[in-house]
Amino acid sequence: MEGGFSKLVVDAIFPRFCVGCKTEGILFCERCEYFYQDINVKTFCVFCFRFGSDKTCVHCNEHTFLDGVSSVGDYKNSILRNLIINWKYYGDKSAEQFLKKIFIKSINRVCPPVLSFYSTHVPLHYGRKRERGFDQAQVVSSWIEQLYGIPALDLLVRHSTNKQQGGSGIKRSRLGELDGIFRIDENAEFIPENILICDDVFTTGATMDAAARCLKDSGVKTVWGFVLASG
Ligand SMILES: [Zn+2]
Ligand SMILES: [Zn+2]
Repeated sequence: MEGGFSKLVVDAIFPRFCVGCKTEGILFCERCEYFYQDINVKTFCVFCFRFGSDKTCVHCNEHTFLDGVSSVGDYKNSILRNLIINWKYYGDKSAEQFLKKIFIKSINRVCPPVLSFYSTHVPLHYGRKRERGFDQAQVVSSWIEQLYGIPALDLLVRHSTNKQQGGSGIKRSRLGELDGIFRIDENAEFIPENILICDDVFTTGATMDAAARCLKDSGVKTVWGFVLASG
């Protein structure tokens, strides 16, 4: 299916325009891909934007269950943002390969802790996953597994939906407001001590923090976030 009939259908319904130069034909043209550069490449605390490290700073530490968050890029970068939007809201699977290549390009700069870590993801509600056909956070977790050689586990279930983050005109939840929307997957074989939890975008952090809280309530010691874009 993938790349065959479904691709023809997507191409017929949505003519593609490059997220960089707007030329019609492909979502990210070769030239724009070649010249792609990320912005704001310094590391910082994702909660208060204090520069220096992607570890949660001492000031924010008491308000969150996340020990740090590493991000491939900045959500203000229109190319990165539009690739993610086309991927998850318009279901354009061609965005996936470009996002993965951007991640691979940044791999020496973005250094989440992986030694003695396992990877998992912030799951979509099953209804939304069925609607979308895939869970973008799970895809990111599978890249982490491939590229860092750490096992990806399905540890969480989302048992209620919350408003989508990252789009325009959408309510953004504050830290703590989404606590209780996740539970541990009853099929999880074991709960590791250190988890790298993946998602596509980090905005207020409310969703990822609620997931981190659920993991820590179940005995996890370190929960570190990993996203494609933050801000
Ligand atoms: Zn282009
Ligand atoms: Zn901070």
